[in-house]
Amino acid sequence: MPATNMHTTAAHASAALKEADRLMVVCNSCRYCEGLCAVFPAMEMRRVFHDGDLNYLASLCHNCGACYFDCQFAPPHEFEVDVPRALARVRAESYQVYAWPRAFAGVFARNGLIISVIAVLSVAAFILGFVAYNDPLVLLGIHTEPGAFYRLMRHSTMVILFGAVFLYSIVAIVTGARMFWGDIGGSTTTLAELSSLWQATKDAGRLRYLDGGEAGCMNHDDRPIDRRKHYHHATFYGFLLCFASTVIATLYHYLLGREAPYSWYDVPVVLGTIGGIGLIVGSLGLFAAKLQRDPALRDDSLFGMDAAFLAMLFMTSVTGLALLVLRSTPAMGLLLALHLGVVFALFLTLPYGKFVHGIYRFLALVRYAKEQRSVTGSSQPRGNGDA
Ligand code: SF4
Ligand code: SF4
Repeated sequence: MPATNMHTTAAHASAALKEADRLMVVCNSCRYCEGLCAVFPAMEMRRVFHDGDLNYLASLCHNCGACYFDCQFAPPHEFEVDVPRALARVRAESYQVYAWPRAFAGVFARNGLIISVIAVLSVAAFILGFVAYNDPLVLLGIHTEPGAFYRLMRHSTMVILFGAVFLYSIVAIVTGARMFWGDIGGSTTTLAELSSLWQATKDAGRLRYLDGGEAGCMNHDDRPIDRRKHYHHATFYGFLLCFASTVIATLYHYLLGREAPYSWYDVPVVLGTIGGIGLIVGSLGLFAAKLQRDPALRDDSLFGMDAAFLAMLFMTSVTGLALLVLRSTPAMGLLLALHLGVVFALFLTLPYGKFVHGIYRFLALVRYAKEQRSVTGSSQPRGNGDA
């Protein structure tokens, strides 16, 4: 039996943190799941779970569901141990706790609604701006020459608008990440350790802890499969390819003096097309998997935020690909305005949505790699079949 009365309990800022603390005490006595993922080995290194520790453990959890289905204390047992859901609730709260500026923390709570409003306003502003500042003959004309996009919106205006929103996003995300890193006990020296960074990059890059101790992610009918992991990969690498496409297009512009739009075989177009298809497949797949997830593993308070982020990624890809296919037609002007409006809204809302979860998870994996090496002396962290 878990000796909860022998445990020193930290004061907590919320009921979700208090519940996660209770479960970690039970799990720390049981330890049956220690080989499933990174959460349990990290938990075993602690006797008292402060809020920062619980946010760290919650960010290590990939919500694979394996520990719920393996647990002899899961509901209807009176201990009601449901680690995936408890840690999902802590994760959801952590996004608000580390939001910057603090006044915007509430955006996470009503994320779906607020992102929808921002997206609609942003798209409307770009379309109205295009209509107001362009002659209808130019707006609805056919433009295929290099620099065609900039006939509708000056390049300098695009750079100022998107440079400003990108910079704001970066500052907000980095400030939140710094607060998170300090709270989970991370140090500056750890961030400079290549071995920890490399281990975390490998673990994040292959979503090592999403496979339920190598059995696969549990789905709605209790069968462990890796579909959710594949959709995650499609989304993550699709996003990276689209980002790489934008960076290379910028280098084309400034270093080579070549203006968009580019031919279908040019590197920015190839990367953007593959990335866009990955984002469409990944976002649709993740949304379908979310609907099918066992309710016992879900924290439904996150649904609006997850769905809004997936919808923004989907819309970014669909409008981008539509622009690529129809750029030699009179629809190009309005499609460009639509795509720019969606991308602007995506950047503006990145620090207040599911995107930050990827940043916090990476930092938690860095901390975990460092922590495990200091205990085991091995560069290979325990957990997920390695214990
Ligand atoms: S989830 Fe259940 S089985 Fe796993 S360590 Fe915790 S109490 Fe034990
Ligand atoms: S990653 Fe999976 S096994 Fe580990 S705590 Fe989360 S749900 Fe449980």
